[in-house]
This record gives sequence, structure tokens and C-alpha cells, in this order.
Amino acid sequence: MNINIEQTIKNLENNNIRCIFLNDSKNIFKVIDNLINDKSIVGIGGSKTLMDLGFVEYLRNRDLDFLDRYKENIDALELKQIFRKSFFADYYLTSSNAITEAGELFNIDGRGNRVAAMLYGPDQVIIVAGVNKIVKDVFEALERTKKIAAPLNAVRLNIKTPCAKTLACVDCKSDDRICRDYVLIKKPQKGRFTLILINENLGY
Ligand code: SF4
Repeated sequence: MNINIEQTIKNLENNNIRCIFLNDSKNIFKVIDNLINDKSIVGIGGSKTLMDLGFVEYLRNRDLDFLDRYKENIDALELKQIFRKSFFADYYLTSSNAITEAGELFNIDGRGNRVAAMLYGPDQVIIVAGVNKIVKDVFEALERTKKIAAPLNAVRLNIKTPCAKTLACVDCKSDDRICRDYVLIKKPQKGRFTLILINENLGY
């Protein structure tokens, strides 16, 4: 572990964010098996990290009430209902756009459903993130979202923002803007947040 990872973990723990550090993602689902009880209601936030690790298939194959925002032929109304139901979930799974060395979580959101569920609603919030998400401070976190997270997500989701073309943020006025909300979580309620920090580069 690099010193900044160790210190980040200590600071996260001091901020009521329980940390589980994994050297790689091979056993991620064994960890999740132990964290999420069968028959639970589970919501999921949009995340390249979770998609790449295969979380959607994993959740579909477990004995859960999975609020599956990715199911085939879902329409806008059903998606809205799933986002709203997610506030009543037992567990909410997501990643984080940045994690500061001071032990804070920084996230941007286009619709606000993900950051809203992180802030309030689900009893347990489980965050899965690679060490590439660790940044020095909030200013670097903001830079990271402008230069990496938002542009690459705009490309991935085929959203027509200026950054999708140039990979640079121009603080656009686009109606399709994917970074409408900027949320810093400093010290959440005790016992609600778990961060699984993986010693790999994952997601944006
Ligand atoms: S403000 Fe606009 S250009 Fe900047 S990252 Fe967000 S969507 Fe892209």
C-alpha cells in the first residue's frame, strides 16, 4: 500500500466510512455476498466500475429484489419509478467519482438520483472504487470530474456535450449537461457507508 492509500483509509474510517481494502477485484463478489443479505432490496447507481466488474449480472443472479435499471426495453416512466424506489432500498451500490486523501467522497451527477440516494434513503450505501479515484483534495476532485469522469462518461453514454467531443470541460450550458450536481460527502451517519477500495484502476 502506498502511504497515501493507508492515510486515506484511516481518514475515511475516521469519517465514518468503513473501508475494505482488496488487492485486486478477483474476490469482489465474495465480499459482496457477505455484505448483502438475501431477499434484500438493492438499488444501483450508474457506474462504469460496477458495469466493468459485472455487478448487474451478479445482482440479477442473486436472491434479491434488484431494482434493475438496466433491464431490456425499460421505458422512461419505469426508470423514474426505479430511481424513486431506490430511496427505499436496503442497499445502494455505486462508485465514487473521487475520494480525497482527507477521507471525503466527491460526486457529480446529471439527474441527481445517484447522489440523492447516497445522501439519504437506503439503509446501507456500498461504494466500490479503484485506487485511481484517490485525489489529494476537493480541488483535485473537481478537476478529476471535469477532465476525466464527466467527459469520458459523456462519450460512453453518447451524450452530445462539448466535452464528449474535446474531452475538456467548458462549463457548458447544454441541456444534456451530465454534471448538474456536485456533492461532497464529508462525514456521513455512522454505520451507513462502506467503501470497498480495490488496488486497481477502475472506471472513470
Ligand atoms: S459542464 Fe458540460 S462540458 Fe463540462 S464536464 Fe459537464 S457536460 Fe461536460
